[in-house]
Amino acid sequence: MSKKNEVRIQDDLYQAINAEWIKGAKIPSDMPVTGSFMEIDRSIEETLMADFDAFLKGKKSSDVPAMADAVRLYKKALDNGARENAGMKPLFPLLDKIKAIKSIDEYNANCKDLLFDRVAMPFTFDVIEDVTDTSKRAFMIFDPQTILPDKTLYDNTAAKTMMMLFFKKMMKKLLKFSPLDKAEQKKYLEDTIAFDELISKKVLSRAEMSDFVKLFNPMSLAEVAEKVLPYDLKGLLNKIYGDKTPQEVNVTNPTIINGFHEILNENTFEIFLHWTYVWTILKNAEALSKKIIDVANSYTNAIAGVKKNPDLKKQAYRLVTALYDQPIGIYYGRMYFGEEAKADVIKLVHTIIDTYKLRMQKNTFLSEATKERALLKLSTMKVKMGYPDHYDELFDTLKLTDEESYFDAVKKIWRRNAEDKFERLLKPTDFTEWGMPAHMINAMYDPFKNDITFPAGILQKPFYDLHQKYEENLGGIGIIIGHEISHAFDTNGSHFDENGCKRDWWQEEDFKKFEALAKNMVEQWDGVEYHGVKIRGDFVVGENIADNGGMAVTIDIMHTLDNPDFKAYFINDAKVWRQKAKESYTKLLLTIDEHSPAELRTNIPPRNFKEWYEAFDVKETDKMYLAEDKRINIW
Ligand SMILES: [Zn+2]
Repeated sequence: MSKKNEVRIQDDLYQAINAEWIKGAKIPSDMPVTGSFMEIDRSIEETLMADFDAFLKGKKSSDVPAMADAVRLYKKALDNGARENAGMKPLFPLLDKIKAIKSIDEYNANCKDLLFDRVAMPFTFDVIEDVTDTSKRAFMIFDPQTILPDKTLYDNTAAKTMMMLFFKKMMKKLLKFSPLDKAEQKKYLEDTIAFDELISKKVLSRAEMSDFVKLFNPMSLAEVAEKVLPYDLKGLLNKIYGDKTPQEVNVTNPTIINGFHEILNENTFEIFLHWTYVWTILKNAEALSKKIIDVANSYTNAIAGVKKNPDLKKQAYRLVTALYDQPIGIYYGRMYFGEEAKADVIKLVHTIIDTYKLRMQKNTFLSEATKERALLKLSTMKVKMGYPDHYDELFDTLKLTDEESYFDAVKKIWRRNAEDKFERLLKPTDFTEWGMPAHMINAMYDPFKNDITFPAGILQKPFYDLHQKYEENLGGIGIIIGHEISHAFDTNGSHFDENGCKRDWWQEEDFKKFEALAKNMVEQWDGVEYHGVKIRGDFVVGENIADNGGMAVTIDIMHTLDNPDFKAYFINDAKVWRQKAKESYTKLLLTIDEHSPAELRTNIPPRNFKEWYEAFDVKETDKMYLAEDKRINIW
């Protein structure tokens, strides 16, 4: 018996499976969205918060050494009386120091101290694998932060006006905590927006940032330093590295370097300092009181449509987790993700890698030479499953004391992290290092290490369970594993070899064929309307190809089973992506996320596979039908 207005699976897989869940789902008031990912996130948070409370009461202990400091910091964060009393005062000396700077020379003379003290800079620096030889590391220069979350929003007058209003509202409140008088508060905010306007013309958009290859532009330090004057980059690096100063740096965005004289010069120095002051408050807010953190988060909350702030306990937990992510992840992994499950998923990953190899051997558009390199990448791909064996030794390099304030403790950790970051340049790459903590609900392919990471966080229902159907695991974590592996061969991965070094290992004509196929995928998605916004096919193409690859490889595995249950496979895929979000958050993601919306990730890829039509007897008259000549299969 079917109700008249019930959605048919053949017309809308996502709604047919998830409509009832969506109806009942409640978006937590301190979040913009809920869904499979967020539900697990919540449950991990609840589990770990209960454990932290037990640690505090001495009812529980951990064999992960750095957890003791994590708990110590948690206790300080919970002491909100002390934090509220202090307000922004602990930050005053630093703010006064910025305000007292009289000239660019004086700024440059103090630059290293300012950088290590978390003062906002006109660049963001990082140290990551050197793509010309990934066993070493490179000094990277990234764009500074902008007020709007993406460059493209600066051209969208309606969005820009609204977001700037939110930003001003937040900053007005926040600056009241500062030592500035009323007139200064107004001036500093105006100047911040004026300086932001200068930066926003030169920075990369999110879409441009996702094109990895273009981010690697090695240049001599001398050349870059000359271009970014009056900012004394050379002096800064000399102060950090002394005689070990790198002679080459990596520029992610040559446009900002080449046009830097239009951003910072004698005429803009004052507004730059005011911008520095304001952003330094934002960058340090998390070391201050709950009230200040709540105000500092109100801008992003407003953009995402979040109405409520987390309570003190939750906020304290989140602050501590951000600073002790690795030890907490290992604790979580050891405690809640068993060895049996770990072995089971590792087996699944190897089945998927082996199936990719078979598919690669049968591939019809790649030349033999390219196939051989692809197979080598698959054979040498490293798997990081569940949780790492150890955390970075930096977590044991400092000890918190019971006496120091929450502010001092956080600042101490930040400073240690900054020192560690820059020191890494002089050390070889650690290939055992994980790119995300074990309690995170996510997965990744790292093109610079040629490895895949699946934290314990995501290895739960509906994605994976030792005791759910194998078909469900394939439709859940299986597709995601296949998705991540396919990034080794996509527009980004094709430029990095089996060691993660930047080397075009594709024959040129192969790449042209791939681009033609990718174009089909762009067209399949281009202009599809979602919440009144048209999908930009080229922006989401990489992730869509990965979704399709993940489905293709797991469907092959399905065919190796006796009586495979394809219904269970597709239904669990739909469950994984169920989501309910605030409208403003949905719209924000459409602008900044290179992944397609969850609903479309469920409903579009199956149409490319004959198994979908067979499993549910999908006919030409059904909405989820796609003519055979329109179906795309790349990997
Ligand atoms: Zn992806």
